[in-house]
Amino acid sequence: MTHNPMQSFVYLVSILVTVAAHAQVEPLEANGIPAGHFLIEGDIIVPEEHLLPRGTFAANFWPSGIVPYVFDANVSSTNQTLMLDAMAAWEEVAVIDFRPRLGDPNYLYIRASSQNSSFVGMKGGSQVVNIFNWNFKFIMAHELAHALGLWHEHSRADRDQFVQINYANICQNCCNGDSCDHNFNIRPGGGGEFGSYDFDSLMHYGQFDFSETGSPTITVLPPNESWQGAIGQRDHISDGDIGTMAFLYGGCASSTTLPVNQSPLNGSINQSAGAPLVWNMVADATGYDVYWGTTNPPTTRIYYNIDRTDVYPPGQPGTTYYWFLNL
Ligand SMILES: [Zn+2]
Repeated sequence: MTHNPMQSFVYLVSILVTVAAHAQVEPLEANGIPAGHFLIEGDIIVPEEHLLPRGTFAANFWPSGIVPYVFDANVSSTNQTLMLDAMAAWEEVAVIDFRPRLGDPNYLYIRASSQNSSFVGMKGGSQVVNIFNWNFKFIMAHELAHALGLWHEHSRADRDQFVQINYANICQNCCNGDSCDHNFNIRPGGGGEFGSYDFDSLMHYGQFDFSETGSPTITVLPPNESWQGAIGQRDHISDGDIGTMAFLYGGCASSTTLPVNQSPLNGSINQSAGAPLVWNMVADATGYDVYWGTTNPPTTRIYYNIDRTDVYPPGQPGTTYYWFLNL
């Protein structure tokens, strides 16, 4: 069987789920989980009050996209450089700035661990990011995306339209001796869905993750079966991931403005070299779905029910994209 580092990582994490002991000032447990917190979905840290009972858990975003960080002394300079490279992957696609902490009250505390895990969104204060796979840039980018506010793609509220979770195949004793079913829960409330379901997302699980039987725990539903073997990739940030992150934090420098508040509500643009597009939505542009793609008319809905003034779809240089607004 081909070695899949992601699967190894998932299993490793799964056996480290722990019920943290009561303690004083958030000391880290041996595996890097603060006291009073749990791991869910394999690598997401949540305060126990958010898990028992499961409640609303809104992801908080980093003001102005500025994310201060501190490295634990256990992170080698080599691994610090590798982490900065993973950070740059997000800084290239959205208005996000990871920078060393300068007395900031809220910051990432990045440490070497026997697992990969992160909180979702800005927790407030120091929040640990545990990293095991320093040599896998996009596993680290996955954890950073959690810290930036992204849940797992397969935990979207609309996921049952796109994938089937095969509970009969999920290991029932691999997660701290218990069932791993919780790793496939739909995300807690308080967040939202951005764009259309993205099988290519860096935030999706693979088809065999947490499988006990060797059969898939996730089956891609028709008509998207061709994605079955491709879900769970950890080698790039998908166009959908870029769109989501740009939606949350704003896109990068722009070259073109599309006045989508004017008629007609569709058109095309040839993406010039490098720079992403800027879409200027009027302030009252609510309830619009934006379709975008290389076919005319485009069929991929990238934004649903827009309520922001600026959104920034991704594009490849030299490619003609068509856009369409559905009111
Ligand atoms: Zn994750």
